[in-house]
Amino acid sequence: MATPKSGIIPPGGYHFEDEHGRVEGSSYDDVAEQLLRFRVQNKLPLGMPLAEVVNYTCSRHPHFCHAPQAQVSVSKAAKPALSGRVIEWYSALYRGLRGTDVSQNYVDAGTANQRAKTCLSCPAHTEWRTGCGSCVSSARRIGHTYRAGRKVEYEDKLLACDIVGHDCATAVWVKAAPSLTPEQNDALPSHCWRKRL
Ligand code: SF4
Repeated sequence: MATPKSGIIPPGGYHFEDEHGRVEGSSYDDVAEQLLRFRVQNKLPLGMPLAEVVNYTCSRHPHFCHAPQAQVSVSKAAKPALSGRVIEWYSALYRGLRGTDVSQNYVDAGTANQRAKTCLSCPAHTEWRTGCGSCVSSARRIGHTYRAGRKVEYEDKLLACDIVGHDCATAVWVKAAPSLTPEQNDALPSHCWRKRL
């Protein structure tokens, strides 16, 4: 993916436009943040805001961006990056909320803390904040927005579940989560709280 050159403000200022309207901000990150908020508030697919904002600018003004670096070829059988799966999980979570109140979809703090403890000692608990930087920052923003200030005791140590593809820091708070595939359900260990939902 091309990356914008730093310090050069694109024509019309930092902004993004699609069929839902125009978002403006003080930087690419700020536009991505506002785009994410707009999508959350309007229960739209979350997409990958920062990558979309960068693509939007670089496709219109390529001379404002560094050319993309050569892609390393990836085997078709390669498992998708966990950061991308986490974004997909957030999209499914928000899609599932269509028409319902997000505030009704949290468990209590005791349950969330218990779940977090279980994840922390689970072999499927996996680092996901590597690779695609824009995917990771998008997912982290989405998580902060969804949790709306809720924190479990071990929040800073929580990673992602490599079986479900969820961000544990958020998933432990969710009452009604996106459905699992039969393969995911079979793969979950017996101690897993998600298996029992
Ligand atoms: S398998 Fe269950 S307990 Fe383990 S990390 Fe995933 S959600 Fe947490």
